[in-house]
Amino acid sequence: MKFEDLDIQRALVVYAHPDDAEFSLAGTVAKWAKAGVEITYCMITNGASGSDDPKMTRDRLRDTRYAEQREAAAILGVKHCEFLGYEDGYLYPTLEVRRDVSRQIRIHKPDVLFAQDPTMRIAADFYVNHPDHIAAGEVALRSINPDASTRQMFPELWTEEHLEPHKPKALFLETFGGGGGTVVDIGRTLETKIKALLAHRSQLWPDAERIVREWARSTGKAAGYRAGESFRIVRLERPPERPKRSIAAARGKRASQSRSPRSTRAPRKVTPSRRKRAR
Ligand SMILES: [Zn+2]
Repeated sequence: MKFEDLDIQRALVVYAHPDDAEFSLAGTVAKWAKAGVEITYCMITNGASGSDDPKMTRDRLRDTRYAEQREAAAILGVKHCEFLGYEDGYLYPTLEVRRDVSRQIRIHKPDVLFAQDPTMRIAADFYVNHPDHIAAGEVALRSINPDASTRQMFPELWTEEHLEPHKPKALFLETFGGGGGTVVDIGRTLETKIKALLAHRSQLWPDAERIVREWARSTGKAAGYRAGESFRIVRLERPPERPKRSIAAARGKRASQSRSPRSTRAPRKVTPSRRKRAR
């Protein structure tokens, strides 16, 4: 499948909890799966903290959440579900977690890695991000550089498990609440996304469906779609761009600037960047 100029055969979703993916990117997952992309979910924690019911136990909730995640994945056409089993709510980007995520990347060799954004701490004035989301994002970023891509990082993965280093072509970071980024048109897969979301019966509050529909609508609207999901895309296979000006030209410009007093130069015009569209 082609996305912009990326050729994508496999994608890996590395997220913290069973249900995170359905809230944020399941429309894109369903769309890509339909187009033939082999998609793998890698859920780092077991979801065992996600209940306020005093009669619930962590073991029972873990089993429930794995079952719900498998059901949602089947609805979306996700090929594999990997559960790393770390305790929900206790996640740190330790070397052990980093090795386990690197192993999954080396096994599944994704062209695109979907991850949560570890720099997202607080959304507007209403949400403090869950620390597991931040830790999961941190691990995903470290997997790109250096954990999964470097032969001498976790050499046992290579020497003992015969897993060659791997670097995805692109990283797709969740843009929480749809701010900025490249918008994917999910108009045709929104209903599949909602169906998959509703599989997480232990997690849904009465308004969840309405809110997810509203996010999709407002994210899509900015790009002219009925529904959308947006990502900050980092292209990892491109060589760094060459500087626009040669060093000599830059030197020449500096010399000419030094002749004119700073205060006479016009201030640089800042234009807001336009949101990109992508099908
Ligand atoms: Zn979560």
